[in-house]
Order: sequence, then C-alpha cells, then structure tokens
Amino acid sequence: MAGLLFILSAPSGSGKSTLVSQLRSMVQDLDFSVSWTTRAPRGSEQEGREYHFTSRADFERMIAADEFLEHADVFGNHYGTARASLTMAAAHKRDLLLDIDVQGAAQVRRNMPEAISIFILPPNPEVLAMRLMNRSRAEGGVADSVVKKRLAMARQEIENYHEYRYVLVNDILEKAVEELTAIVVAERGKTQKESTVDAELLRSRALAKQCLLENSTERLRPVLASFGLSM
Ligand code: ADP
Ligand code: 5GP
Repeated sequence: MAGLLFILSAPSGSGKSTLVSQLRSMVQDLDFSVSWTTRAPRGSEQEGREYHFTSRADFERMIAADEFLEHADVFGNHYGTARASLTMAAAHKRDLLLDIDVQGAAQVRRNMPEAISIFILPPNPEVLAMRLMNRSRAEGGVADSVVKKRLAMARQEIENYHEYRYVLVNDILEKAVEELTAIVVAERGKTQKESTVDAELLRSRALAKQCLLENSTERLRPVLASFGLSM
C-alpha cells in the first residue's frame, strides 16, 4: 500500500467513533474504511457512511469469494474490511484508517506488520458503562442485556492492549483528539527531511512519543487496575 495504514481498536462505547470523526476533521487526506456488517443500523447510521449493512448470506458469499482483508465475529454479528478499501486507498495514494476489533487487528498486523496500530481505553468501567447507557438512550434504546454483554466483553478486549503500537485513554475528549491527531501527524512526518521539520511537527512527535506503548506504563497502570488487569 502506498499510503499509511492506521488501525484503531477499542472496547465498544470507549468513544472510538467520536474520536474518528473529530480526527477526520483535524487531518486531511485520511480515508476511512467503511466496514461490512450483518448487524442492524443503529440510531442515525446510514448505509455506506458508518457501515455497509448486509445479510448473513451475502456476507458469507463475500467470505467465500475472498473479498475480505479481515473479518471477525463480534457480539454475534459478522464484521469485515473489504480488500477493495485498501485497493482504493492505494490507488489514490491516500492513508487509510480501519476501525476494527482486536481479532481483526491481529489478522491485519500479521499480513501488514507496517500498519500503525492504536488502542483506545476508556478511563474505567464506570465511565464506560455510563457512555454505553447514554448512547443507547440517545439512540432510542438498545436492550440492557446488549449493554451488559458489551461491558463484559470490554475487559477481554482490553487484555490485548499490549499488541498495539500506541495506547490512548479517552478521558477528556479534547486531549484524546489531540493525541490521536499527533500520532497521525508524527507518523506522516517520519519520512520528512529533518531540515524541513517545523515546530508543529516537533510538538506532534513529542506528544505521539508519550503515547507509545513502551512510554505509557504509569499512565495505563491505574486504568488497567480498574478493569481488574495488571501490566
Ligand atoms: P464507540 O464508537 O467506541 O462505540 P462512541 O463514539 O459511540 O463509542 O461513544 C460512546 C458515547 O460516549 C457517546 O455517547 C459519546 O458521545 C460519548 N463519549 C465519547 N468520548 C467521550 C469523552 N471523552 N467524554 C465523554 N463522553 C464521551
Ligand atoms: P459497533 O457494532 O459498536 O459499531 O462495533 C462493534 C465492534 O466491531 C467494534 O469493536 C468495532 O471496532 C468492530 N468492527 C467494526 N468494523 C469491523 C471490521 O470491519 N472488522 C472487524 N474485525 N471488526 C470491526
């Protein structure tokens, strides 16, 4: 692929969609891969914008035709990234962002180790529960059992945080957006000639560096502990 490939994963309700939409208003030329899913549209979601909504039979036909770069079963529904997303981004030499779960991220990393992976953590289980409940209310109500299932899954997904290059905590939204933007800017600027590096890129590099997994131990320890996990 000619451009950069960014992978973003987070437990459901952590604020990933919110962050992605803010990131895309901050940086140019970043394509978002619209996944395929067998789940029903939620709230104001539109076909072709958040997802391509499809039937199980059609999804399985696409699997058989090897049309997916990766696919996984999440909460009992199929989700997948079409190879076409990658082909399209490569043809236009654009960077591509995948919002996929930990299983899908592992599949992509195996085939494309150069992919830049970012994991987003909610600050603690109480805040995650609140965000899931608020969202479900705003969207006309998802069953409590669905929210409970997503909370239980969160801990399992968070266990995979150490497989990612960068780890962010989405506590204060503005801060998380700033960090995510810095990561994209810093990764893009890696190939830039040192003589052309400006103050903005230096700032982004410094911020992105703080978000590298290896530099995040102290920041992550209390968050992981709140989910009953140790480092
Ligand atoms: P995800 O895409 O990870 O499932 P969403 O982006 O839909 O999560 O966010 C879940 C809910 O949390 C939404 O109601 C959103 O407005 C809210 N939210 C996201 N980030 C923050 C934040 N940093 N502080 C407070 N609320 C947030
Ligand atoms: P939601 O139903 O809340 O939109 O997404 C549920 C989960 O599915 C999230 O963790 C999201 O990242 C993941 N997901 C969305 N699209 C894909 C995809 O194409 N592949 C994989 N593996 N996971 C996806």
